[in-house]
Amino acid sequence: MDRFEQYLSWPQVKALNAIERCRTVALGGHRDQCDRCGHQTISYNSCRNRHCPKCQTNARDKWLAARQQELLPVDYYHLVFSDEHLRAILEFFDLRRLTTQVGTTLLEILEKQLPYVDEFINSIPH
Ligand SMILES: [Zn+2]
Repeated sequence: MDRFEQYLSWPQVKALNAIERCRTVALGGHRDQCDRCGHQTISYNSCRNRHCPKCQTNARDKWLAARQQELLPVDYYHLVFSDEHLRAILEFFDLRRLTTQVGTTLLEILEKQLPYVDEFINSIPH
């Protein structure tokens, strides 16, 4: 990594050094013991850098599990757009008039996929 340091910012070098040393003898270790059976294991310490995939995997998995508990048993779609972008798309393509080869307007397709799209589109001031 030394030969690439000239191309990296200090935070990047710091993160890479932490990731390189994570859970190795370089950061030391600790002994864990089971409260029930007394079994012991020795583990290397983690770097706790927010960019480290080893350290953040557990946190990410916990966060995902917590979010999945909040989900309803339905299909989800994630759309991110601004009012101005949607209006520009509608005006440019005129979705209410565009028709596919099977005679379905693109708006009808969107309505089937995303029931609230039509309500949202109609709520935009003309
Ligand atoms: Zn780490």
